[in-house]
Amino acid sequence: MKDCIFCRIVSKEIPNYTVFEDTHGLAFLDIHPRAKGHTVVIPKVHAETVLDFDDELLGDFFRVVKRTQERLDRVLHPDGYTVGWNHGSAGGQLVPHIHVHILPRWENDGGGNIHSIIDNPGAMIPEQIAKMFGDHAV
Ligand code: AMP
Ligand code: ZN
Repeated sequence: MKDCIFCRIVSKEIPNYTVFEDTHGLAFLDIHPRAKGHTVVIPKVHAETVLDFDDELLGDFFRVVKRTQERLDRVLHPDGYTVGWNHGSAGGQLVPHIHVHILPRWENDGGGNIHSIIDNPGAMIPEQIAKMFGDHAV
């Protein structure tokens, strides 16, 4: 997509520090890193979120995420990772081209885990929420 910053990175119009690339995706260092080696992984085909993304391409894209982690592992040797994506503006997504953040983690690096992103469960308990999904409780 012409006006998409990540499509422009794919087309090399905008430079990047590549961590891994194949025909399906590109992984590059985040320009504002929140951890050493913070990497953004994108599919080469434009889609705003995973819900707009072609099912057929998902497997190839997640293989790129794995290859990128393997590369980070070999070069930076982190103790662990936090991996995820911001989805929609309420979820913190700024760039409207699906991207997975890979944050290499080290013991005692001062960061939190996914549970530290939000702690606002609302008034409904899981049993009430479950009813909204119908008769699927085990
Ligand atoms: P978000 O959409 O909030 O999940 O995050 C978008 C991420 O892309 C941010 O962490 C930015 O620092 C990063 N970013 C934006 N533009 C570039 C760029 N040209 N090169 C590398 N990273 C970028
Ligand atoms: Zn795009």
